Amino acid sequence: MNVTRTTPPRPFDVAAAFPQLAPLARTATRLHPRPGSPSPYDSSVGGPLLWPSSQPWLYCDKWHEGPVSPLLPVAQLYVRDVPLLRPPGRTDLLQVLWCPSEHPPEYKPTTELFWRTAADVTHVLASPPKPSEVQYGYLPEPCVLAPEQVTEYPNFLELGEGLRQQLSDWSLWKAAGVEIDDRYEAAPQEFYMNELSEAPGWKVGGWAPWGLTDPIARFCINCGAAMNPLLTIASDECRDYRRGWTPHEDQAVAVLDNDPVSNPPGIQVSDANHLQLYVCPTCYTHTDLIQ
Ligand SMILES: [Zn+2]
Ligand SMILES: [Zn+2]
Repeated sequence: MNVTRTTPPRPFDVAAAFPQLAPLARTATRLHPRPGSPSPYDSSVGGPLLWPSSQPWLYCDKWHEGPVSPLLPVAQLYVRDVPLLRPPGRTDLLQVLWCPSEHPPEYKPTTELFWRTAADVTHVLASPPKPSEVQYGYLPEPCVLAPEQVTEYPNFLELGEGLRQQLSDWSLWKAAGVEIDDRYEAAPQEFYMNELSEAPGWKVGGWAPWGLTDPIARFCINCGAAMNPLLTIASDECRDYRRGWTPHEDQAVAVLDNDPVSNPPGIQVSDANHLQLYVCPTCYTHTDLIQ
């Protein structure tokens, strides 16, 4: 880790103004991928995986006209960098791969997760097979990470009716003494959405982004448990109306929509959306959803 990114503090403590939010606070780890040359021993997006030369590579056998197609590394996260991962057993490394095209019927890449014990890997696979075709937006540029923990509250769409009404009531914001820009008077909930709820960009844990679809609870196909957000694969980190989340270190360059910090991995998931990975807290089965 040789980069640091620091999210500015939120404009105020929203749970103090709306106490029903307090029990919904969750920690997320923003990953802040930035261009670099990660090694297999680094946490990365689009970097080489710590993959043993003795282990067969993973392939996708769905929806391809020709033979099976090798998967592509998307991210690997060491627990020492992202303690929030809470991996199963003695594993300490999460590897995420995908088949880099939008597969029917849901038109998203197929994803595979691999939980690994780094110390068990003595010989690293030097040249993994590469897919012959990669759809635009699905080849991550190599990035190093600057993990940072932040506190999040649920996406507005995921809140109950009562809290949604409170957050939409300008008089309650004023009564709580919140300094809020008058441009939010007609729809103060947008201030919550933009500045106070969940962080934009690649992240582990926390609350999932919603907007493309209404929130849907995800349940484990093995045990029925509610699944938790694991990793958010994002198409950008710094949309203009969410500039309040831009790290201090990037504010000088984060001026335009196509600035160098808005999307260093160059990923475009289903245009400009998110691929949200979920994991079962007991079986570690995973699922994903375009959001
Ligand atoms: Zn495939
Ligand atoms: Zn389960």
